[in-house]
Amino acid sequence: MAQYYTTMNLKSRFAPSPTGYLHLGNARTALFAWLAARGAGGTFILRLEDTDQQRSPEIYEKALLEDLRWFGIDWDEGPDRGGDHGPYRQMERLAIYDQYYARLQASGQAYPCYCSADDLAAERAVQRSAGKAPRYGGHCRHLHAEVRTEREAAGIRPTLRFRVPDQGILPVSDLVWGERHYALADLGDFVIRRSDGSPAFFFANAVDDALMGVNLVLRGEDHLTNTPRQILILQALGLPVPGYGHLPLLLGADGQPLSKRYGAVSLRGLREAGYLAPAVLNYLARLGHHYSATGFLDSSALAQGFALTQISRAPSHFDMVQLQHWQHEAVQSLDDAAAWNWLAPHLQDKVPTGQEMHFVAAVRANILLPADALDWAERCFASPTVDAEAAGAITGASPEFWSVAQATLRASGGDYRLWTKTLQQASGQRGKALFMPLRAALTGLTHGPELAALLPLIGEERALTRLHAAAQRS
Ligand code: GLU
Ligand code: ZN
Repeated sequence: MAQYYTTMNLKSRFAPSPTGYLHLGNARTALFAWLAARGAGGTFILRLEDTDQQRSPEIYEKALLEDLRWFGIDWDEGPDRGGDHGPYRQMERLAIYDQYYARLQASGQAYPCYCSADDLAAERAVQRSAGKAPRYGGHCRHLHAEVRTEREAAGIRPTLRFRVPDQGILPVSDLVWGERHYALADLGDFVIRRSDGSPAFFFANAVDDALMGVNLVLRGEDHLTNTPRQILILQALGLPVPGYGHLPLLLGADGQPLSKRYGAVSLRGLREAGYLAPAVLNYLARLGHHYSATGFLDSSALAQGFALTQISRAPSHFDMVQLQHWQHEAVQSLDDAAAWNWLAPHLQDKVPTGQEMHFVAAVRANILLPADALDWAERCFASPTVDAEAAGAITGASPEFWSVAQATLRASGGDYRLWTKTLQQASGQRGKALFMPLRAALTGLTHGPELAALLPLIGEERALTRLHAAAQRS
């Protein structure tokens, strides 16, 4: 199967059901499939699996496309841009599925099942109490034509079942998990078309991959058990079987699958909080895939370094601290103008016109998120709230220190180096004893960006007011 990631004709896809905002588990699935395609110079498709109508409102489709674009994932074929294998929304492909049901029925590989939900539930209950795994017992497998006509006349809408061969072993090789074997007798004939006429997920999914020329399927581990049935369908139809690779689950810090958690972290949520797409890319690309390069990579380097053999079999845990590490790297990699574009919408006009680039340059190394920048904008241009540690540093300095600090600042005309030098001489304080009280009085905190860069933003007037306030406290 190794040929799948070295061939130039690699075609992979992301096939989400637009039933909510894209959570990080699915975003990682999309990313891996995209990296595989881009790294091999192949093709990437976006297909919307929207047959679960009530749960696929249009707003989620729109949001999905937006979120993927923001993330930096592009597609060569998809619902918004068409392609040679469309349509790319499954609800627009129902007539295509009909042709394939008809083929299977004509060859006897599928048959209508008239069993009611109650009949089936009763059958399963009996099997369970006998300690057997529940599966369809084959009641409608060999119904006479007259019986079928009778059921139809009675208005019963059947499901369509795939006829699984009675015996044999199906080998299924997975690009991540290796080869497994399934005894066909254990599978039971499964439904490929529901009684309301809609396709079963794995039927439409398998047929579409084949018709769209997809030869690499990367998807969540939760689909592992669908694979044997999908291979049987494709083989029965004489359609090509793609290479399947199932990605280990993405778990939250609490060990629960991210997708199942209430309020699962979504790509949109991270974006709204101000996380940068390249940070999320670097983080997710490494969640369950090993890169030998440990530094910050752009998306083409991530694609070049991607290999199916580097996908781990162990579940991955989403770790906010790791994401923050990559966010730090991403923030540092922006130029000042790009950093300003990122921050501006969050800063609520708190930074005076003309000061933007100075502000960005001053705070850049000390912020991870726009909320941090907003805090620094307030500390520079409005009035800082003084935390307990800073209050201690302020009261720790003498009243004389504060009056000398004000006088020397006035005398040095706001020049930071001149000011601190003259203040050092006049007060006899140096090092921490000099700078910590100043930082505390000017910013309200005992840590943060270089004071030399902050003082011009705070300005002489506000600085004097703050030094005066410090004098009152001490
Ligand atoms: N629509 C399926 C899902 O969202 C796609 C599974 C697959 O990629 O094959 O899980
Ligand atoms: Zn039946």
